[in-house]
Amino acid sequence: MGAAGVDKWLYPTDRGLYCEPGGFFVDPGRAVDRAIVTHGHSDHARPGHGAVLATGETIEIMKTRMGPECAGALEPLAYGAAQSINGVGVRLAPAGHILGAAQVVIDWNGQRAVISGDYKRAADPTCPTFEVVPCDVFVTEATFALPVFRHEPAESEVARLLASIARQPERAHLVGAYGLGKTQRVIRLARQAGYDKPIYLHGALVELCALYQRLGVDLGDLRAATTGKSEDFAGALVLCPPSAVDDRWSRRFPDPVTAFASGWMRIKGRIRQSGVELPLVISDHADWPELLDTIVETGAEDVWVTHGRDDALVYQLGLMGRKARALSLVGFEDEGE
Ligand SMILES: [Zn+2]
Ligand SMILES: [Zn+2]
Repeated sequence: MGAAGVDKWLYPTDRGLYCEPGGFFVDPGRAVDRAIVTHGHSDHARPGHGAVLATGETIEIMKTRMGPECAGALEPLAYGAAQSINGVGVRLAPAGHILGAAQVVIDWNGQRAVISGDYKRAADPTCPTFEVVPCDVFVTEATFALPVFRHEPAESEVARLLASIARQPERAHLVGAYGLGKTQRVIRLARQAGYDKPIYLHGALVELCALYQRLGVDLGDLRAATTGKSEDFAGALVLCPPSAVDDRWSRRFPDPVTAFASGWMRIKGRIRQSGVELPLVISDHADWPELLDTIVETGAEDVWVTHGRDDALVYQLGLMGRKARALSLVGFEDEGE
C-alpha cells in the first residue's frame, strides 16, 4: 500500500499525534482520554490522561516521578507483545533511549507507521538496543540532526572520567547528568569499566536510581552525598543534576573537578556556557549518521520529523531523494539530554 494516505488516519493535532481509528494519541502534550507513552521523560510522559499504555518500566518511572495517580488507568505492554485498540494493531519495540523507552508500531489498513519517540543506536547497558522495524511511515526525532553531531563511544568518555579520577585522587569529581537515563548509564558504564568504589548521589537522583536497581539494572554501591565531612569526598565520584554543579550544594566538595555528561558537549559554545572542566560527550539521542542510517534501514517511503533540528533533517532527506516533512509538534524540550 505504501505511505499514501497514512496521514488520513494518523496526524498531528494541537494535543499531539493522533491515531483516529484507534482513538489514541502518542506522547500527547496535554491530557487526553487515551495515550500511548514512548518513555518517561517529562516532555513525553505527562500526567492526567484517562488511560496510558506503555512498557511496564515506563509506567514504574511515571509512578515514581508523578505519583500512582498520574493517570486514570496504567496499562503495561511488554516489548513485542501485540495489542489491538479498536482494531488497530499496536506493539512496542525497543528504542534504546532509556530504560523502558519504546517505539510505537501501528498497523492499520495494510499500512504501518512507526513512531520512534527519542532513540539512539549505540549500545546502552541500562536498556535493550534499538530495533529496526520496517515501515511505510517513520516518525523520527531530530534532537541532534546536524552534521556536527557525531557522538563519541560513551565507553571512551567514561574511561576519560575514570582516568581523571585516578590522576587526581585529592579532588572530588562532580558529574552533572540528567536524573532519568543519563545518570544510570554513566554509573553502569563506570561499573562495567571496573570502578567498584561507592558512587555518591545528589538527593534528586536517589529515587530513580533505586527504581533502576529494583527493575534489575545493577548500579552497585550508591550512597547519598549528603552526609560526612568534606574530606570524605576526596577522590570520590559524585553525580548531581546539571544545575547543581555550581550552586551552593557543590561547595561541600574539596576543589572539585566539574564535569557534564551530555550530547551538547560536542559544541564548544555549550562547553563554555556550562563552565565545566571535563565535558563528556554522552548522548541518549541518535547523532547525525545514526539518524540518517536508521531512516534508510526502516525502508520508510515517508519520514515525519517531530522535534529538534527538523529543518536540517528534512532538507538532508530531500537531497537524498526522500520524502520528508516536519510535523512541528510543540512541547518537546529534550529533558533527558
Ligand atoms: Zn527522552
Ligand atoms: Zn524528548
